[in-house]
Order: sequence, then C-alpha cells, then structure tokens
Amino acid sequence: MQSVSLVKYSKSTDSLKQAIELCDGLSKLKPGDKVLIKPNLVAWDELFPPAPYGVFTTTRLVEDLIIILKEYGCSDITIGEGSVEVKKGVGTMAAFAGLGYTDLASKYGVKLVDFNESKSEKCSIDASTHLMIAKEALECDFFINFPVLKTHGQTKISLGLKNLKGCLKASSKKLCHHPELNLEYCFPFVADYVKPKLTIIDGIYALEKGALHFGNAYKKDTIIASTDILAADIIGAKVMGYEPTDIAHFVTYATRHNKSLVLSDYAVKGEKLVDHIQPLKWDWSWTADNTGPGAFAKMGIQGVALPKYDDTLCSGCSPIANMCNILVMSAFKGQPLPKVEILNGKKMQARPGYDKTVLMGNCIIKANRNNPTIKESVEVKGCPPDFDDVVKALKICGLEVNEMAYLGYMKQQSEKYNGKEGFDPLYYRASS
Ligand code: SF4
Repeated sequence: MQSVSLVKYSKSTDSLKQAIELCDGLSKLKPGDKVLIKPNLVAWDELFPPAPYGVFTTTRLVEDLIIILKEYGCSDITIGEGSVEVKKGVGTMAAFAGLGYTDLASKYGVKLVDFNESKSEKCSIDASTHLMIAKEALECDFFINFPVLKTHGQTKISLGLKNLKGCLKASSKKLCHHPELNLEYCFPFVADYVKPKLTIIDGIYALEKGALHFGNAYKKDTIIASTDILAADIIGAKVMGYEPTDIAHFVTYATRHNKSLVLSDYAVKGEKLVDHIQPLKWDWSWTADNTGPGAFAKMGIQGVALPKYDDTLCSGCSPIANMCNILVMSAFKGQPLPKVEILNGKKMQARPGYDKTVLMGNCIIKANRNNPTIKESVEVKGCPPDFDDVVKALKICGLEVNEMAYLGYMKQQSEKYNGKEGFDPLYYRASS
C-alpha cells in the first residue's frame, strides 16, 4: 500500500525530516544524484508583490529541504521553475529574487534555473499534440515536486500534478488550455515524462479561491509527502475538503495509470487525516445571467457583461480578466453602463443585445472572427494584451474606467496580510 506522510509543521528542519522519513521519501536517492526541486512560484509582480501566503512554496521549507539533502550528501541541487510573465521581463528570476531563492542559491551553492529559458524536449500527448518540457526537469536523477496546498479557480485544486505545468515552455502552457482537449486532460501528461520521485505539499499556509493572492490564505502548518504524486495529491485534496473522484485531473491521471482514487487504498502515516481537514472554497460566484462577478449584482451594475472565465483562459490573460472586473466597477457611478460585452479565453461566443463586443487577446479575436451576433467589435490584440491597450479599449466603449482604482486594488491585495497574526513574511526569506 502506498504511504503518504501527514505531519504538523512545528520546527525547521525536524518537521520536514519527519514527513520525508515517514514515507521513505529518499529511499531511491543516491548522494551523487542530480537533484531538481520544483517549487510553485506561479508569477511575480515587482510593483505590487503578491501576498505570498498559500500562493508560493515557502522559502523556509525549501531551505529545510536543501539542508536535509546536503546532510544526505547531495551536492548537485537545482531549483527550477517557469513562472508566468504577466508583465514583460518579470518572470522566474524576479520571483526567485523577490522570494529569497537567490539568497538560498548563494548560501548553499544550489543552482537556479528558469525553465522559460531552458532547452526543451517534445513530449507527446497524442499523435498530433505535444508538450515542450524543460530539459533539466527531464534529465535530472531525482525530481522533487514541491507544490503548495491550494485551491484553483479552474481545476478546483492545484497540488502536485498541477505544479508540474510549470516545467512547460510558455507555448505549451497555453496549449494546455486547449478549447477541445481540455486543461485537466492535458497537464497531467507532464507527470508521465518528468516522473517525480518525491512530492512534498507545503501546507504551512493554505489558499482558498486560489491560485493567486486574491483568495483567502490560512495558516495551516501541514506537510504532506509521498513518493507517489497521486497519493500526495489525494491526501492534499482531502485536507481541503475535496473528494478525489471530483477532481477531473485526478480521474484522467488515475485512469491512464490504473491507479486507485479510493482513500482506503493509501496508508496515511503521522497525524490523523480527520484532524487536518479544513474545507476551502475554490470557485468565485457570478451573476445568474453570467454578466459579471457576484460583486456586480451587489453593486447593481447593469449594461456591461463580463461572462465568467472558462478553463481556456490561460495564466497570461487571467490577470487581464480580473483587471477588467475591477476597471468596470470603477466606471460605475450608479447609472446603467453602456451595453458592452467583454470576452476572454479561447472559446466564448458573443451574445446578442450588446452594442459593442470587446475581444481581449488574440485567441478570442480568432474565436469570434465570423460571429454574426457582433454589432461592433473592439479588438485588443496581444498574447496577452497590454494593460494600456485594455484601458484604451474600455474607454473607446464609453466606460469611464479609472486605472488608479485598479492600482489601488492591487496594492491592497499585496498588503492585505501585513501585520496580521500568523502571517509572517520571514517564511518567504532565506534564514539569516
Ligand atoms: S491570447 Fe490570452 S488566452 Fe490566448 S494564449 Fe495568449 S495569453 Fe492565453
């Protein structure tokens, strides 16, 4: 029976050591192995650094892992990630610097690799679809998958299987949000090629309504580990209140590998599972007529429609969708807004009843190219589009949006845990 450790984080490095030992996590590791650690550093913003809690793998726990590996005799250790560049030029290296990983590299002599810049290899999903995976992820001897305990607005949860999407080149990340193949069918294939030897779920903080900092973080102090990626993910899902069979990417992966999704087929070692379960919401509410987030109904916003994002919206355009919500709210002064529909992702179709249709990004422009429902389209080109072009397009449509409102929102989100009990920024720094 596959073992999964469930440990309470109380002390560095003891807690992580216990989690690794309980699942015999290093049994296949040889001191001379090339070790690759893949944390979750999803995206960075230098202007408004994301509140890190439950969003990023804690630097503290990664440092603990490096210490444990060094004690084991390992000297060839690399940390690899491919953060999404929401802003041009602000990617993995900025995240490494902002979260103290650069300090870890100089303190312990570990290497940092930006998978966005790596050479990659073609790995097939089927005869006509393939993913480009970073070579370092494929060629290491011992891959340690180090996700965060968090929920996700498209896939319900984002744990070990989802974290591996960060090993893909940007174009393949976008391809996973395929309008026909389906996101949760595509990304689990990365695990088939990368084959992590150990998965550690960092639950020092857990995140509701993730995967970014716009949701709510909780101090959780839980570590889950297993040599089997699905086993770790199943326990992570249960801890957040989800049944494994309700997670589509678990089902596709388990079916392909003939693995069980039945909890009793896994041996949980350490803490009692029931003591760690804290149900966390993953979804954002939308108006009944699919015209905007729940806040639109509360504010009484009418006229404008922002249909709910679907799973074809990739990480590049997803901040744009959120930005549009905030900008539209900033334009509302108590009177109905112009009849404008704003679409994103790769498959939404314009609905009748709107004077203008704003198409945010190259994908949705293409998807609506011959849509006869559209009276007048406003195309915002880009993959993803630029902030200034988005603002310009909304203004062209007669929406008096206030850019400062968006910047104020981002600042508030960035600082929302400052000074709050249990939220300690030192978890995201190298120890002194
Ligand atoms: S246009 Fe947007 S949704 Fe389409 S691939 Fe580019 S970033 Fe993703």
